[in-house]
Amino acid sequence: MLLLISGPVATRPEVRAAMTVDIAPWDDDTRPFYVSLRHRVLAIAGGVEGEHITLPLQGCGHFITEAAIRTFIPLGGRLLIPATGAYSDRMTRLAREAGRVPVPLAIDTQRRASREAIVAALEADPSITHLGMVYSETGSGVVHDVPAICRAVAPLGRRVIVDAVSAFGALPFDLSQHPEVDAIVFTANKCLEALPGVAFAVCPMTRLAECGGNAGSWSFDLTDIYTHTQRYQEGSARFTPPSQVLNAFGVAMDLFEAEGGQPARLARYTANMRTLYDGMVGLGLVPYLAREAQGPIIVNIHAPADPAWDLKQFVELLKERGYLISNFYNTEKPSFRVGCIGAVTPEDMRGFTRSVDAVLHDMGIRRREAA
Ligand SMILES: *Cc1c(COP(=O)(O)O)cnc(C)c1O
Repeated sequence: MLLLISGPVATRPEVRAAMTVDIAPWDDDTRPFYVSLRHRVLAIAGGVEGEHITLPLQGCGHFITEAAIRTFIPLGGRLLIPATGAYSDRMTRLAREAGRVPVPLAIDTQRRASREAIVAALEADPSITHLGMVYSETGSGVVHDVPAICRAVAPLGRRVIVDAVSAFGALPFDLSQHPEVDAIVFTANKCLEALPGVAFAVCPMTRLAECGGNAGSWSFDLTDIYTHTQRYQEGSARFTPPSQVLNAFGVAMDLFEAEGGQPARLARYTANMRTLYDGMVGLGLVPYLAREAQGPIIVNIHAPADPAWDLKQFVELLKERGYLISNFYNTEKPSFRVGCIGAVTPEDMRGFTRSVDAVLHDMGIRRREAA
C-alpha cells in the first residue's frame, strides 16, 4: 500500500527495518549516535554550532509546537497567528489552552500570507511579543514565504515560532540568517521520511537560557531539555526516548543525505506535485489552489460535482488499487487531498492518476468539475 498522505509518510524498507532491534538509550554505544543525530538535524536547519541546539522531544508535532509556545512565551503572553488554515487553528488552540493569548490574523487561505499585513498587525499591537507561523499549511497546501516574513518582522523586535512540521527537510530554512527565530519545530515522519514518535525544535541557546520557568510543564519545557543536555551531555535523554524510532531516524538521515539533502528532496516533491496537479487537471478535475499558490507538499482537489461522489467509497476503491489517501478534508468546500511527500516518485503519481480515472469510472462519475 502506498501512502499518499501528509504524514506519517511512506518510508523506505531500510528505515522500517531499523526498528527491529533492542536498544538501551543510556548505553555508551548509543549516546554518540544520539549526539550525531542532533548535529545532523542542526545542519539541515542552518543552525550554527555553539549558537543553536537541536532539542528532541518524544511524541508528535502538536507536542513540540506546544513546548515551543510554553517555553518562549510567558503565561498570558500574546502571539499573532496568521490564520492560514487547519494547522494555524491547531496552534491557536494549543496556545489558548496553555494560557497564552493567541491573536488570530484573518488572511486569504488560498494565497501566500502578505508580509505587509503581518507587519501592520504587529505594529498595531506592541503587546504581541511573538509571531506563530505555519510554513507549509497542510490544510490548504499553500507554502508561505516564512523566511521573508521572518526578515520583515525582525526589525520590529518580535520573535518567531515556525511550525515547519510539514516543511522541514524539503523547504529551505537557514537559521543562521534568522536571529529573530526562537524555534523551528518539526517531526521525523513528514519530509524527513522517518517514522512517527519523535519531534524536534532547533533553537538559539541564549534564548533557551533566558526562558527557564516559563513552561509551567516539566514534560514540555524546552529549556529543561537544554539544561539537561548542558549538564549530562547531548547523548543523554531526560526521559525514555523512542529508541527504535531514533534508530530508524538515523537510517532516514543517511538516505536524506545520499539523495542530496534538502534541495534534492524539494526537487522530487515538486516533480511529484506537478505530475499530480497536471494529472488531475488532465482528468477534468479541479485543484483547490491556483498553480502559483500550490506548494509541493499536499494537493487538495475539489470534489467532483457529480451526485455519485462519495469520499469514503472513493478512498476505499483507491485502496483496493494500492493507494491510500486521507478519508477527510480540511478545506471549506468538499475536496480530497493527496500528499506529495515521502518515499514517492513522479512515476507513482502517474500510476495514482490512472487509478483515480479508473475509480471515477467505476463510481459512475461523469461530472468532474468542482462541486
Ligand atoms: C502534521 C502537522 C502538525 C502536527 O503533527 P502531529 O504529529 O500530527 O501532531 C502540525 N503542523 C503541521 C503544519 C502539520 O502538517
